[in-house]
Amino acid sequence: MENKVRVGVIGCGAIGRDHIRRLTGLVPETDVVAVADFIPEAAQKVAGQYGAKFYATGEELIAAPEVDAVLITSADPSHAGYVLECLKHNKYVFCEKPLAQTASDCEKIMQAELACGKRLVQVGFMRRYDRGYAAMKELIAGGRLGDPLMIHAAHRNVSQAPGFETDYAITRVAIHELDISRWLLGDEYATAQVLAVRQSKATKGEWLNPQVVMLTTKSGQRIDIEVQTDGAYAYDIQCQVVCENGTVNLPDPAAVVTRADAKYSFDILTDWSQRFIEAYDIEFQQWAKAVLADHLTGPSTWDGYAACVAADAVMLSRKTGKPENVNMIDKPALYA
Ligand code: NAP
Repeated sequence: MENKVRVGVIGCGAIGRDHIRRLTGLVPETDVVAVADFIPEAAQKVAGQYGAKFYATGEELIAAPEVDAVLITSADPSHAGYVLECLKHNKYVFCEKPLAQTASDCEKIMQAELACGKRLVQVGFMRRYDRGYAAMKELIAGGRLGDPLMIHAAHRNVSQAPGFETDYAITRVAIHELDISRWLLGDEYATAQVLAVRQSKATKGEWLNPQVVMLTTKSGQRIDIEVQTDGAYAYDIQCQVVCENGTVNLPDPAAVVTRADAKYSFDILTDWSQRFIEAYDIEFQQWAKAVLADHLTGPSTWDGYAACVAADAVMLSRKTGKPENVNMIDKPALYA
């Protein structure tokens, strides 16, 4: 690696192709040199389009000498295995969320990374790069509003792909709030719970929708997250942090306002892929620079682990019907 990171991408689905476009066009410090996918034709098509080398398996791509760093954008259950394989080869790896399906798999990744002696893993919690969330974090950390006391958040979706399940509302959807809330508050979770509410007739399958996730932190802050996975009026992400001396709200994306027909109106996004598009750009621009500097600073294995432990506790509470403790191991110094 001199002045370019040669990236291999595993998973050429929707987000994989979008990230390849991003790395190629908007991140001058990267070259996408290799691709793989569970469906060979999907990777072959992308390989032809971008002049990258096609690999039949993720493992072969990871071992390839021309690959400096790996981007994992395959399906959730494959993430942990590929991350561990990258660490075997001492390679940088950017893993889309979630880092793993369970906290125990995250712990395995942490042990493997600790054995490498430096941070090699970054997790795709891109909201931390969104200008709105970043401004909220800065304001809260500045202290003018006093200590943060609680967060009210909502994650509303229009639809889901076929095969969606109740747990995915936590592991795939609310996982973003599980990360961003602890990042905004600068604290770890103490308890987690999911509450039953009246169910929406708009749900196109058998899963529970909506769900309300309740968390407490070690310093006693409280977080409520409304998770609507189907049938909502738009893709709408809301977040309000209530502090001692004021509140801070996540701004809505910029939209043109119309005054006509005796109405004041503006469009609300319905497509998730547009909402954080700039955040993904910034996320990868900073990641590439960090890899070249041999010093990762973005969301870590610890952050992936913390979100997974909380998700596990939320899902357990659905079975037990009561708040569950969020039990984390001691934080290794590498992630301080
Ligand atoms: P997708 O369109 O289904 O793409 C996933 C691709 O990876 C598919 O082509 C899939 O093939 C392939 N794949 C599945 N298992 C694989 C394996 N073991 N090895 C190699 N390739 C494999 O899904 P997506 O929407 O792009 O999502 C991909 C990942 O990105 C998911 O983990 C998702 O959670 C994450 N994501 C993150 C964000 C974010 O906001 N940060 C947004 C979107 C997605 P098959 O179709 O045969 O399974």
